[in-house]
Amino acid sequence: PVRVRFCPSPTGNPHVGLVRTALFNWAFARHSGGTMVFRIEDTDAARDSEESYAQLLDSMRWLGLDWDEGPEIGGPHAPYRQSQRMDLYRDAAEKLLAAGHAYHCYCTTEELDARREAARAAGRPSGYDGQCRDLTAEQKAAYEAEGRTSIVRFRMPDEPITFTDLVRGELTFTPENVPDYGIVRANGAPLYTLVNPVDDALMEITHVLRGEDLLSSTPRQVALYKALIELGIAKEIPAFGHLPYVMGEGNKKLSKRDPQASLNLYRERGFLPEGLLNYLSLLGWSLAADRDIFSMEEMVAAFDIADVNANPARFDLKKAEAINADHIRQLDVKTFIEACGPWLKAPHAPWAPESFDATAFEALAPLAQTRVTVLSDITANVDFLFLDAPVEDEASWTKAMKPGADALLATARTKIAEAEWNAEALKNAVLAAGEEHGLKLGKAQAPVRVAVTGRTVGLPLFESLEILGRERTLSRIDAALA
Ligand code: GLU
Repeated sequence: PVRVRFCPSPTGNPHVGLVRTALFNWAFARHSGGTMVFRIEDTDAARDSEESYAQLLDSMRWLGLDWDEGPEIGGPHAPYRQSQRMDLYRDAAEKLLAAGHAYHCYCTTEELDARREAARAAGRPSGYDGQCRDLTAEQKAAYEAEGRTSIVRFRMPDEPITFTDLVRGELTFTPENVPDYGIVRANGAPLYTLVNPVDDALMEITHVLRGEDLLSSTPRQVALYKALIELGIAKEIPAFGHLPYVMGEGNKKLSKRDPQASLNLYRERGFLPEGLLNYLSLLGWSLAADRDIFSMEEMVAAFDIADVNANPARFDLKKAEAINADHIRQLDVKTFIEACGPWLKAPHAPWAPESFDATAFEALAPLAQTRVTVLSDITANVDFLFLDAPVEDEASWTKAMKPGADALLATARTKIAEAEWNAEALKNAVLAAGEEHGLKLGKAQAPVRVAVTGRTVGLPLFESLEILGRERTLSRIDAALA
């Protein structure tokens, strides 16, 4: 049975690259009827935070990427926070040392740096040179007498490591490119290089799907896995698949620090989880050449790692927005209205809470639904209904109130005042006012719109006026004419 894991470190805010990794693991688990393990890699006390941990869980819940084993729900391999599993790593490190798969390394940082420089200068491989590989008991005692501390280093085999990447096919790494590496710090703290494969082994992970930035860890982990199998800690080497890089602006790798990479940004702007996930799924995968919009059920039904593309994917915010807009349009109106809820209140909404009128909002909601890209767009689309006066926007005002606009607005005011109060009649009133001034409807309605809503763009004007009501519409036009 398939067992995959999502194992972020709780540092900083979750970013879209991380979400893409979670999504592909989740889709693969759900497609294959397997198990999604959620593990928290919090072994770096200096960088990890409880706040970030809480945010990770909250983000996964918001996205709907559920897990079968992990925080809050437990499971047969609990605990799922590495900070609570230290004994297991100590035990594994001791066994690796005892079997000769790892050794104590006493080299100081200065010594390592100096030798690395010298190797570089001589054009030799600059990774760890194996200096402490075969120290005798006397040599070790002498180093310790000098007061040196030691890290634990894993002994890489002297032969190439080959594995078949599920995305990239067969890959081979030669020993000069994968030197012996540290697995436990001098202070006894185990490193990612040890804890990650040890947990994958103990949690019986069958497939490791993660970003391409971790590809260089894989030959090390494959070698460590072989040692763990020998020691009876692991059963089988998992399959590895590396998801392609995501490129941002200027064709540079999208970095965690890039503002566009922050998951919170998408939440705050009112992306729907399904819209965002749909977009992120396209970063390295596609449902069909001609289908950009699909549900997570459809993704799960179709997902296969073999279809993941090895080429870098390009992050395109406009496309993400367009896909999200499509998902918004697909909601039933009631769900759309509910989803707008947070954006109709402080701190998003600028109006006083008691000015909000649910009936008026619901009347306008279907028109808004086809026009917003993200849910936060709703606020500016309906604020004219709930503010005492339209927003003041100098640029819109100048744009709409061209010379002659006053005269047109005055005519429109008269005709609107005489009109029956429905969108059709209001449209005819403005149409007739335009005719008197030699203006087509589009031009004639611009000053009316800005007088009533404060903006040059917005929802269909005549429906908006109908809902706003005669009295408020006329008093706003009067204020604009004053
Ligand atoms: N905690 C690691 C990270 O920072 C996990 C990497 C992996 O998937 O092996 O992403």
